[in-house]
Amino acid sequence: MSIISFQIGLPLDTEQFLRRECPLCFRQFKIETDETDRQSLIERELQAYLLHEGLEIRDEETDMTEANEKELWCPYCGQIASQDKWWTQEQIAYIHVFAHNIMAQIINEQLIRPMKRKFSGRSRGLISLKFEGKEMEYEEPWISPEPDDMTIHLLPCCETRIKLEDDWSQTIHCFQCGFSYTS
Ligand SMILES: [Zn+2]
Ligand SMILES: [Zn+2]
Repeated sequence: MSIISFQIGLPLDTEQFLRRECPLCFRQFKIETDETDRQSLIERELQAYLLHEGLEIRDEETDMTEANEKELWCPYCGQIASQDKWWTQEQIAYIHVFAHNIMAQIINEQLIRPMKRKFSGRSRGLISLKFEGKEMEYEEPWISPEPDDMTIHLLPCCETRIKLEDDWSQTIHCFQCGFSYTS
């Protein structure tokens, strides 16, 4: 059974481009992705967050190793990083709210409530036991809509398209294969 079975929608612009941010130079660009790719990236980020919090959740459909091997190039600085490293600060904060809520649900349902039921008003011998553990609170996810900014560039090497900052006039590196285009 997969606990992470719901879908999290990331905002796309009207041409269906997804915003990305270079983990090295922090410049932003946009690429075209499909729903399956986005969901598997999100699931990996959820699992990484939960693992960091000490909750290991295995989802058989998500292969962590294979996905982590795929790398992307920054179109601006040309540096390489695995494909799960390109979240914007806002996207990662948004995904972490869902991760927090999954953790809250697991802890509340599997730890706090059973403990409360176990000890509610029950007397053991001469001592009355009561469990005072507080349930974790849920947070409301929010992310800004994606504006239609940036300029489209064609990348013939991989027959794909990318959106870059309007004033970028230096070398462009293909995010899929690293091929450089000098203007
Ligand atoms: Zn970069
Ligand atoms: Zn290419």
